[in-house]
Amino acid sequence: MANIIEDIPMSNGLTSVFLEVLILSGSMLARTMEEKRLIVWLAERDQSRVGLGTVGFDLCDMPWNSETFEEDKAFLLQAVSRAKERLGWKQLGYSPNEAILFPCLDRFAERISRMDAAEIRLEIVREWLTEADAFDPVLCGFPTCPEHHTLLTIFGCYICNNEGGRGI
Ligand SMILES: [Zn+2]
Repeated sequence: MANIIEDIPMSNGLTSVFLEVLILSGSMLARTMEEKRLIVWLAERDQSRVGLGTVGFDLCDMPWNSETFEEDKAFLLQAVSRAKERLGWKQLGYSPNEAILFPCLDRFAERISRMDAAEIRLEIVREWLTEADAFDPVLCGFPTCPEHHTLLTIFGCYICNNEGGRGI
């Protein structure tokens, strides 16, 4: 089984590593509500909670805000770039296989660069927030994991949840 993220096929293990490094760097870099929402949304693609091979997505599925799109796009590109500088990797209990991971991050960055505001579907963020319950971290001030300093989701901390299940 595998996941396809923006046309990039990844094994289940690679998917977890790919998301972990983005969640680590993105959580450290996110300042605005829109930036934090993007990282929490990524962290909700947690195969340990929603099932292996079920978390593929396209960039246009993410909760973009058309008013801050250019800034948010720059933020996500920075999160990818800093992930390649291993930002936050000391929180991982293992060393990701960079030869496999980095080409995927490069391709993802290329897709982000090419994304146009016309691809944003405004109903996505609205529906996502409507479905969130009152205790969802996206509605409760974006708490972080005391151990990993990563943004939490309804499933808890992505890094805590995936400890012990390394694929690459
Ligand atoms: Zn944690």
